Amino acid sequence: MRVLIVGGGIIGLSIARNLIKADVEVILIDKGRVGRKASWVAGGMLAPQAEGIRDKDFLQFCLDSRDMYEDFCRELEKDTGLDTGYWKCGILKLAFSQEELDTLKEDLEFFKSLGLKGQFLTREELKERYPDLGEDVLGGVLYPDDAQVDNRKLVIALEEFVKKNAKVLEYTPVKWIETAEGKFKSVITDSGEIEADICVIAAGAWSDDFGTPVYPVKGEMLALGIDRSNIDRVLYSSRAYLIPRKDYHRLVVGATQENVGFKDGNTVKGTLQLLNGAVSTLKNLYDKDILELWFGYRPATDDELPILGEGNIKNLIYATGHYRNGILLAPITAKIITKYILDGIQDKYLKLYSPLRFKGENR
Ligand SMILES: Cc1cc2nc3c(=O)[nH]c(=O)nc-3n(C[C@H](O)[C@H](O)[C@H](O)COP(=O)(O)OP(=O)(O)OC[C@H]3O[C@@H](n4cnc5c(N)ncnc54)[C@H](O)[C@@H]3O)c2cc1C
Repeated sequence: MRVLIVGGGIIGLSIARNLIKADVEVILIDKGRVGRKASWVAGGMLAPQAEGIRDKDFLQFCLDSRDMYEDFCRELEKDTGLDTGYWKCGILKLAFSQEELDTLKEDLEFFKSLGLKGQFLTREELKERYPDLGEDVLGGVLYPDDAQVDNRKLVIALEEFVKKNAKVLEYTPVKWIETAEGKFKSVITDSGEIEADICVIAAGAWSDDFGTPVYPVKGEMLALGIDRSNIDRVLYSSRAYLIPRKDYHRLVVGATQENVGFKDGNTVKGTLQLLNGAVSTLKNLYDKDILELWFGYRPATDDELPILGEGNIKNLIYATGHYRNGILLAPITAKIITKYILDGIQDKYLKLYSPLRFKGENR
């Protein structure tokens, strides 16, 4: 069987890896360099609890993937000899207003009712840990099982594995999909037609080009130079999230969120929002160096849920729309899409996140 994957972000690469491991012939096509769009840009937080996800099915989907992450990274590290920066550092979610504090406490009760871990910390307790804590922080909740991965390192490791074991065509935009009798037949590129038995659309924020309702939500980010004494784990709030990488040299600060289509570049407004968010969380970040500014596009859907599985065209499978959680959801997406391709198994999540839901046909 030959499977063609359109899009080499973390989703396409992770699916490619699972298929390769199952001895399937894979061709992966990307319109640019693989792994350099949303998957490069992201914060790499594995944060179903800090994100405050309350939809029980989606929360379980995210938790299942969070549970898979350490093994996913360790196995890839073993296969490639490359580090992924996986770090179960825990995520501390902070409140800057009474309303946020109330929501934080409600979230904590909800998670505890499901048997998940979390610990409330008062401002005084936080101040003991972080003497430079911003004046407006009222309290926080530590989620010890939320984690992070260095998404750039992870993508480099996936890229290494997939390029060694499959045909990868970069700088090759897929123009359209050919079908015959309601089935996938081939993709058309500038260099010609490529046929396969199955095609997976993993084109991130550009997936709308392939007939599924995904749109871009822009995010700006930046990085500061830090040292070990500054911050020991991810601090997450509505003002900014601060993600120290495991080597403690680089603090990733995210992220703005704007519905402006594909509008490239970092703005003064976005940069100020991130810097103000950072220093109002930890005052000692004020004199740090700015190492980098960047931006990218989350693949969003109207109901903020992913699009997974076959639509109306047989053998054309979608794996997209992961919005704010595509790094987190890569292992579980790869697992269920691979199972479907190999054995035709319709996992419950493929039913929940079917592309047909937008036409009201799957419920
Ligand atoms: C600022 C920001 C912060 C984020 N932080 C987090 C976080 O902390 N945790 C988390 O879990 N998620 C986070 N996300 C979300 C996450 O980055 C995405 O959900 C995830 O990367 C999507 O992966 P993907 O492979 O679908 O898309 P992408 O990585 O964008 O890959 C899609 C690929 O498809 C290719 N492509 C598109 N069209 C074509 C075509 N016609 N032909 C060939 N190739 C094509 C593109 O070139 C690209 O390489 C963040 C996103 C942003 C923007």
